[in-house]
Amino acid sequence: MSDLSLIQTDVGNGKAQTPVDAPLEHGIQKLHNLLAELDSKGVGRETASSPEAGRSETAWVDNQLIIVRLGMASSLFVALRCRSAAVAAHSLRVALTCSAWGLKLGLTPGDLDAIEVAALLHDLGMVGVPDSVLLKPGPLTRDELLIVEQGRRLAAEILRHACAEAKVLEIVEHVGAWFDGSKGGYRLSGREIPAGARMIAIVNAFDSMTTDQVYRRAMSHERVMQELFASAGSQFDPNLVEQFAEFRAGDQKPWRDKVAQRWLRGLDAETANSYWELLATEKPRATTETARWFERKLLENMHDAVMFIDAGMRVVEWNRGAERLTGIAAVSMMERLWSPSLLQMQNEKGEWLAEQDCPVRCALQSQVQSLRRLTISGRGGRSISVDVHAIPVTAADGGVLGAVLLMHDASGETSLEQRCQSLYERATKDPLTKVANRAEFDRVLEMFLHAHKEHHVACSLIMCDLDRFKRVNDTYGHQAGDEVIQALANVLKGVCRAGDLVARYGGEEFVVLCADCDNAQAVRLAEQARKTLAQMQHGCLSGQRVTASFGVTEVQPGDTPETMLRRADRALLMAKQQGRDRVVQLGGGADLDGADSANLPAGVSAFVEQRLVTPVPLWVAVEKLRGFIADHRAKVLHVGENHVAMLVQIEKPKRSRRWGDRPAVFRVDVKLDEECGGQASANSAQPTVWARTRIRVTIAPEKSRERRRDQLLDRAKEVLTSFRSYLMANQDEQTDSQAPCREPSLPWTP
Ligand code: GH3
Ligand code: MG
Ligand code: MG
Repeated sequence: MSDLSLIQTDVGNGKAQTPVDAPLEHGIQKLHNLLAELDSKGVGRETASSPEAGRSETAWVDNQLIIVRLGMASSLFVALRCRSAAVAAHSLRVALTCSAWGLKLGLTPGDLDAIEVAALLHDLGMVGVPDSVLLKPGPLTRDELLIVEQGRRLAAEILRHACAEAKVLEIVEHVGAWFDGSKGGYRLSGREIPAGARMIAIVNAFDSMTTDQVYRRAMSHERVMQELFASAGSQFDPNLVEQFAEFRAGDQKPWRDKVAQRWLRGLDAETANSYWELLATEKPRATTETARWFERKLLENMHDAVMFIDAGMRVVEWNRGAERLTGIAAVSMMERLWSPSLLQMQNEKGEWLAEQDCPVRCALQSQVQSLRRLTISGRGGRSISVDVHAIPVTAADGGVLGAVLLMHDASGETSLEQRCQSLYERATKDPLTKVANRAEFDRVLEMFLHAHKEHHVACSLIMCDLDRFKRVNDTYGHQAGDEVIQALANVLKGVCRAGDLVARYGGEEFVVLCADCDNAQAVRLAEQARKTLAQMQHGCLSGQRVTASFGVTEVQPGDTPETMLRRADRALLMAKQQGRDRVVQLGGGADLDGADSANLPAGVSAFVEQRLVTPVPLWVAVEKLRGFIADHRAKVLHVGENHVAMLVQIEKPKRSRRWGDRPAVFRVDVKLDEECGGQASANSAQPTVWARTRIRVTIAPEKSRERRRDQLLDRAKEVLTSFRSYLMANQDEQTDSQAPCREPSLPWTP
């Protein structure tokens, strides 16, 4: 009775206490006996194997245990007991031992549940093993062993029809698996085999060997343990064999008590029944059936066209969306051979889609999905832009079943894209000539100059203007004038290379921004354009010709968009002044030696002074200085005999928000001195005359109290660099080799 009182005490401490009625009390006692008998062989089995077992007291206990543990699946166990009471009794003992061992190992209740259920039913497949094998007194033949093995697999098969718990199924499936994987027919080996299956395998073998069988007598516990150890690592998990030996060697009583408490008190019907579902294997079938209805509804109601094409290229599905998009009824398409010509499919370039380029064929051959924008002939012969998604369909074994073709009407998106494109064009293109407009040109010019500064990529600017165009308008009208403007735009587009930009700068004036192009190359392009235009006869002008003048310049150090444009404009003006229909080039380009602002000595502050020399006579240097003044819109403060003082404003870079990037005004003082001489020439009686101009330039912020000195240094260097480019001046090494650029020690004086 001490065991019973222990159970009652435990229950009282843990759960709501239920009154212990007489049959239950009796049952608990019997269960204790049964558990105690697990350690000795043969007891309890005889009663279980007796035909009268179901009616005996022990059978009552067995039944109670089975009902609480298996719930609605108890009938499975009863069926097993009807087939073989010995096998059923063995299963019950294995389950109870596993339960006690599992409790000692501290398994989670869920794992314990799965092991107990699996242990009770692991031999369920024996219902399919004939008596000739099951009750055979001698050793089994190879074929008979196979039948027993099939019986094991049958257990999993039977359970799959009713058991909803994957853990239980996996354990039952692997009870016969060997730890080292040497036994064929099992998916898992080693520790991949569920722990429950590895435990049941050991307890199963232990119980079988310690029980009298028709073919051999029970073996002693010691002997059986030796057998288990002998097969540890091959048939059994060696760690678990050791743990089982420990469990067996220890005091069993506390664990038996716990098992009794668990099975007769701890288990509830809801948990026991939760493992079982009627027609469990029917469920996927029902789900599939339901899913099919969902799929059908989806296909019918999808706006997109869906076509299924089998591996033989036959159409096997043509949904309503496909009918709507193509205007072709499903009945006329089913079982027809698919071809892109059925829908007059055209590729991205507007060419008929070739058979070998067909997305379906490609999907079948390559097994790769594709997504393309194609055009089809839609309902009413309307050409429709469609996004075609071709998806190969393969079976589980990798065999090709066909392809799904999804078509989405993209005409809405196309027109949106077209609208965006047209908005973009309107924002950047000149409507009359379709070349870039002035805003676009300004944007690109700034980008070009930025790239030039960063990577020293040359670029040149051509500016051109139709000659005496007012006369054209006056004589032939504005419409004819427009046509001539278009003709000039076409000529310019014709001569320029990929990457160049032609823009209408205003009226009948155009600019061409030539990427990666120096002065010489730009002059050649301009000359080509000039000649082409000059040779054209214009129908709108009764076959008359027109000409244009061109100004060319290459970007040079210190250039801003404004200086470069003004230089090109000046060159154009010179071309006009020199008689029109010609190309004039101005500026030294990027190759001026030592003109790079990076050559300025480090540590120079905003005041800079430099002595330069230019290999031209004074009057040419003055002309060049004029160019500098004009292009920089410099304000001349003073002109002396050989001295000019001016204010030069450097704009802040576009889009810059830095305080230091505000416009900066510099005072630039230039002093010019000509040097000339003559040299006797060997070939001529006349001496060779040479002249050069020495220049002293000083640059300082207009405001002497300017606080942005450091930030202004870079801008001052820009002015100096630009000045040197215009004057084609190099450092005057003769006079300035030691200090080509320095900060004056005295405050600025004009
Ligand atoms: P020059 O050789 O000095 O350039 O003489 P020009 O007569 O061409 O003088 P200018 O370049 O100043 O004349 C521009 C003329 O171009 C004025 C205007 O009537 C005309 N014009 C400007 N835009 C258009 C236009 O879009 N269509 C037409 N037909 N004429 C335009
Ligand atoms: Mg003109
Ligand atoms: Mg003009």
